[in-house]
Amino acid sequence: MLNELISQLTNFGANFVKIVDISMLSAEENRGYSVALLIGIVLGPSYIFRLSKENIIDSCEFSEKENDADKLAEWSADFIVTKGYKAFAQSERNLGLHGFYEETTKTTPLPHKKIAILAGLGWIGKSNLLVTQEYGSALCMCSVLTNAPFLTENRPIIMPKCGECTTCKNICPTGAINGAIWEMDMNRDLIIDVYHCDGCLKCLSNCPWTQKYMKDNIFK
Ligand code: SF4
Ligand code: SF4
Repeated sequence: MLNELISQLTNFGANFVKIVDISMLSAEENRGYSVALLIGIVLGPSYIFRLSKENIIDSCEFSEKENDADKLAEWSADFIVTKGYKAFAQSERNLGLHGFYEETTKTTPLPHKKIAILAGLGWIGKSNLLVTQEYGSALCMCSVLTNAPFLTENRPIIMPKCGECTTCKNICPTGAINGAIWEMDMNRDLIIDVYHCDGCLKCLSNCPWTQKYMKDNIFK
C-alpha cells in the first residue's frame, strides 16, 4: 500500500514523502495516531531568483504549492481510509474545520515542521522556517496522521546550522525575527513575532541555504 501511495504522490507532483513514528509524542500532539506522513513540494529556483534578486513580493507560487500540498494530503488520507485505516489530513481546511488551528496564537498541535524535524529533513532556522541542506527553505509541506502500519524512518534531530548568519533577521522588513537559535520545544515567540510577519517571504528566499539551492538548480 505504501509503495502505491508514494508512487501516486510522486506522479501527482510531490518532491518528497517522509514517514515518521509519532507514537512517542503527547496525546495532544499525535491525537492517538501513531504515524505521520509528510508530503513536500519544492519551490522553483526561478521563483526564488525573482523573489530575492528582483526584490519582488509575490506569494503566487508559494500559495499555489501550499494548496497543492494540502490537496495531496487530503487525497492521501482518502486513499488510506479506503484501505481500512484511519487517517487525518492536516490541510489548512481540515485543521480549521476540526478546530485544530488556534486563531489567536496561530498554532496547531502538531505542525508539519515538527514532523519534518523527526524525519531529519532539516532544522529550524532563526527565521523559524524549516531549512534543509538540499532546498534551503524553498518548500511547501502538508502532513497526514494515520494508524496505518507504515514502515517509519525517524532520524536524529538536526540542530540549527545557522551559525553567525543573521540574513533573515536583517532583511525582515517588520523586525519580526529575533535572531534566537532554536532548541527542541522552545517557545516559538522567542524566535519570531508571528503577529508582525507580513508573509513577504524575504527570509525564505534570501536564506543562504535557499540561495545555494537556487544557484545549483537555476540553469539546469
Ligand atoms: S515573511 Fe517577511 S515579514 Fe515575515 S518573518 Fe519573513 S521576512 Fe519577516
Ligand atoms: S538566513 Fe541565516 S540565520 Fe536565517 S535561517 Fe537562513 S541560515 Fe539561519
